[in-house]
Amino acid sequence: MSSTIHNCVIIGSGPAGYTAAIYAARANMNPVLYTGQEPGGQLMITTDVENYPGYPEGIMGPQMMEDFKNQAARFGTKIIYEMISEVDFSGPVHKIWSETGEEIQAHSVIISTGASAKWLGLESEQTFMNNGVSACAVCDGFFFRGQEVAIVGAGDTAAEEASYLSKLCTKVHMLVRRDEMRASKIMQKRVMDTPNIEIHWNTEVKEIMGGETVEKIRVHNNKSNQESEMTVNGLFVAIGHKPNTDMFKEWLDMEDSGYLITKPDSTKTNVDGVFASGDAQDHVYRQAVTAAGTGCMAALDAERYLTAKGII
Ligand code: NDP
Repeated sequence: MSSTIHNCVIIGSGPAGYTAAIYAARANMNPVLYTGQEPGGQLMITTDVENYPGYPEGIMGPQMMEDFKNQAARFGTKIIYEMISEVDFSGPVHKIWSETGEEIQAHSVIISTGASAKWLGLESEQTFMNNGVSACAVCDGFFFRGQEVAIVGAGDTAAEEASYLSKLCTKVHMLVRRDEMRASKIMQKRVMDTPNIEIHWNTEVKEIMGGETVEKIRVHNNKSNQESEMTVNGLFVAIGHKPNTDMFKEWLDMEDSGYLITKPDSTKTNVDGVFASGDAQDHVYRQAVTAAGTGCMAALDAERYLTAKGII
């Protein structure tokens, strides 16, 4: 165990975590940021980000996160490429353990652990995971060049990924479980205007079949009650995300869905000195810019907390 008690430990390295780090470092809080398993978070698997202000021509997600990281590092944030696996928020000094077993102590903790892709929960989905089944078109679409694929979901992610896949694949079957899409109107129009995307309404995946990799899927039309098979080489799942908050269950108030609950107009959790930001606590907006905004709020809340305690 190190005898140092850090002023501020930030868990997570998406827009929320790095923004918190920029503000905390510039406030002389000497923050230490643990990146987690996927440094840079969800934007590392995104292509063009066109809606983050300040980039009139758009920017690639990984480049944007590199910029965030460099800006946090420029002001002295200590960035550690490890995952946090356990926390103990029982004392006035908070304890955190990294995957290496090292115990870290902190007066304040900012949680920005983000969210991860949801899965359908089919047994056959597990069987073909990474062998034809993927939750990231940008990561894996390349492997399906010139082939026919299906994508499940009807939100902005599914629409964006269908659009991305349509440029690589001969045909993209978009499987929508209701008779309407949740995606924004502009994204719906983009999908509908793409000739090699076929939308299958009221359609749910029942089984994924194949040999070593996916060869076909069995789908059910919940309106006509008909089942049919579709020949595809890949199935992309784009049905939303789950917040990465399991390790905080014992300590922090959260919604049934796992989103951390913060006090109104703040990032304060139910534990003094522990603050939550980004997709781990926001199930409404879930944008890079809003995550960055709450990361900033968390650093300001942490700074006020440390000042009131006479720690900085
Ligand atoms: P959403 O929660 O918005 O959408 C999930 C979709 O998956 C819904 O259409 C839902 O159907 C469907 N779904 C959920 N479970 C199942 C299931 N078991 N079987 C079949 N379909 C299922 O998630 P997204 O990841 O699409 O988006 C998250 C947030 O990020 C949103 O706020 C979105 O606007 C934003 N976003 C913005 C982008 C941009 O602006 N460029 C890009 C990507 C995301 P149903 O509608 O029936 O519930």
